[in-house]
Amino acid sequence: MRKPLIAANWKMYKTPKESLAFLSEFLPLVKDHTSSEIAIFPTMSSLGYVIEATKGTNVTAGAQTMHWLNEGPYTGQTSPTMLESIGCTRVLLGHSERRIYAHETDEMVNLKLKAALEHDLIPVVCVGETLDKRQSGLTEAVLCWQVACALNGVKGTSCGQVVIAYEPVWAIGTGSVATPEQANEAHAIIRREVAKHLGLPCASGMRILYGGSVKPDNVASLMNQPEIDGALVGGASLHAKSFHEIICNAT
Ligand code: PEP
Repeated sequence: MRKPLIAANWKMYKTPKESLAFLSEFLPLVKDHTSSEIAIFPTMSSLGYVIEATKGTNVTAGAQTMHWLNEGPYTGQTSPTMLESIGCTRVLLGHSERRIYAHETDEMVNLKLKAALEHDLIPVVCVGETLDKRQSGLTEAVLCWQVACALNGVKGTSCGQVVIAYEPVWAIGTGSVATPEQANEAHAIIRREVAKHLGLPCASGMRILYGGSVKPDNVASLMNQPEIDGALVGGASLHAKSFHEIICNAT
C-alpha cells in the first residue's frame, strides 16, 4: 500500500515572514490529517524557518534543489551535508524549471539522486515531456530515458525512499492539466521503467506523484487513478486554504 504524498513546490515565492504566515494558517488546518504525507518545498532562504516551524507536526520540508558534492568552490550552491545540518529531510531533483533555466542535465540529476540517498534525504525526482515531444509521439521515450538516466547506478536495495514526480512540462503553471487517463498511462510507463532498473518490489512500492496545474477541483479525479500516488503542487499550494482543500480532496 503506497501512502499518498501531497507536496507543495513554492518555487521562488514567499519570504521567510510570508512562509511563517502561511504555516500559522495551514498547520492548524491539517493537524489531524493522517491519510497522506504532507511536504513543503520552500525557497532556500525560508527552508530553515519552515523546518523549525514544522518540527513535531505532520508536515515535513525539503529543498527545491541541491548540489551533489559536500563542499567546494560552487557559488550559490547548497550541499547535501548543509541540508542535513539544518534538519532537512527531502529534496526536489530535476524539476523542469531547473532543467530549463539552470541547465540541469540528466547526468546531474543522477549525481544528485545518488548524493541524496547517501545522505538520507528523500528525493523527489521530476520527469516529464515537453508539448513538442508529446505531439511527436515521444512521451514514452522521454520518460524512459529520464528515469533510466536518473536511476543509473542506483541499487534496488536503496530505493525505498525514492519518489518520482511525473510533471508534463506543458502542464506546469499553464492551467492545462493532463487528463487522469494521460497521467495514469505516463505513471504506468514510469513504473515499468523503474521495475526494469530496480526490480518489481521496488517499483510497486515507489510513489509516483502527478504535478502540473493540480487544483482543488481536479485532484480527486487524478488521485482516483491506480498509478497516481500523490501530487506535486505549484501555484495552488501558495495559499493555505487551497493547498488544504487539495489535501482533503486527494484522499
Ligand atoms: C510545479 O512547479 O511543480 C507545478 C506542478 O506547478 P503548477 O502546479 O503551478 O503547475
